[in-house]
Amino acid sequence: MTEPLDTQTVLLLHQMSFFVGALCFLYVRSRSSGNIGLGLLSIGFFLSALASTFVIFGRKTPEQIYLWSVVAFMAGAIGYAVFVVGVCRVSSQRKSNRQWLVMMVPIIGTGFLVGAAWYMVAELRASLFNALAAMLLLIAAFCVYRDRMLEKLPVRVVLSLALATSAMLRIMAIVGYQFPTVAIIAPTNAFFLSIVCHFAIAVFVMALVKERAEADLLRLANIDALTGISNRRSFFESLPDTLRVGDAIVMADIDHFKKINDTHGHLAGDEVLARVAQELSAMLRPNDVIARFGGEEFVIFLRASGKDNPAILAEKIRTCVSAIIHTTEDKKISATLSMGIAVCEEKVNFAKLLLKKADIALYAAKGAGRNRLTVFRSQDLEPVEAGSADAIRTAIS
Ligand code: GH3
Ligand code: MG
Ligand code: MG
Repeated sequence: MTEPLDTQTVLLLHQMSFFVGALCFLYVRSRSSGNIGLGLLSIGFFLSALASTFVIFGRKTPEQIYLWSVVAFMAGAIGYAVFVVGVCRVSSQRKSNRQWLVMMVPIIGTGFLVGAAWYMVAELRASLFNALAAMLLLIAAFCVYRDRMLEKLPVRVVLSLALATSAMLRIMAIVGYQFPTVAIIAPTNAFFLSIVCHFAIAVFVMALVKERAEADLLRLANIDALTGISNRRSFFESLPDTLRVGDAIVMADIDHFKKINDTHGHLAGDEVLARVAQELSAMLRPNDVIARFGGEEFVIFLRASGKDNPAILAEKIRTCVSAIIHTTEDKKISATLSMGIAVCEEKVNFAKLLLKKADIALYAAKGAGRNRLTVFRSQDLEPVEAGSADAIRTAIS
């Protein structure tokens, strides 16, 4: 067991570090409008700083020691509970009244402290406080780790580890108070190390905010704002390095879209565009990729699979989406699609060539009267029109 640290110094460090931490959270909150929970983290840290101030008051006025001890206990426990709500909100980005249920911990804890008169015995008081703090820190660690299902951020693992480590140190402090002979660390030292952990927690919370902002930026850079599907840049990044035999690229274009805009207005046109994009992506399989290629054109990558013929699949998607009647305000709008498909016939690494072939096939579909799928056949070097599933089977057999 190492030499115990001086309590007065540790208390001062506790007070100052929590105060500085609170200011840091306030600063990040003022600079990042999108994150909820940072204000509560700041309040939680302020309350903890206040709690150590009350403990210092108690040490300076021995005649009021019990009063200050209870006040410090309450402020510290409420501070931890508010901190937990803050961590859970920063982590999930959700506000819910249920999160405030953790306030039961300081309320019941303080009630017990007063009711059982544990406030009169320093070791019991400190052990109870550490137990509450450990419980609250473990709840926060659990929330941060659980929320990785909602939002994968690498920092979640280290943040929940820092929270759990702080909880463990609190438990070690209890062992130090109650069973000093078996304790591996003096309670003041465990308390000091938990302050260091709170530094780490504050830094990792900032890292979470930063990682989230970076992920949002990346998403914005890859998603088309109007339709919510990927953009062209992201499409090329998602393609595999080497295409397999049977992989296919489809170019799809809404027919006479200019007329839809001219007849129903640009806003109605936007709605149709977004709806078509959503319907197309809803019909794809998990490994397929869709993107808005530009204007009213979409590009689709159909991954080769043993059971699906890509052209038959594309035609099925096309007929389903073309059959939809879109209702915007009181208008009913139908929008048919023309498609060109090029199927990969050998293992290659030039997806752009396949895309060019699909584009040629699309051009042929437009030329042949629109509202159809055309398959590009490399052996013919000319696109072949295939308006129905039967025709496609013949064309690609
Ligand atoms: P085609 O059948 O030959 O494809 O005829 P089209 O009218 O669909 O094609 P054209 O290339 O002549 O016109 C495309 C139209 O798509 C013109 C453009 O204003 C419209 N458009 C492109 N992007 C958007 C968009 O984001 N929103 C809306 N509402 N219209 C768009
Ligand atoms: Mg068009
Ligand atoms: Mg077009």
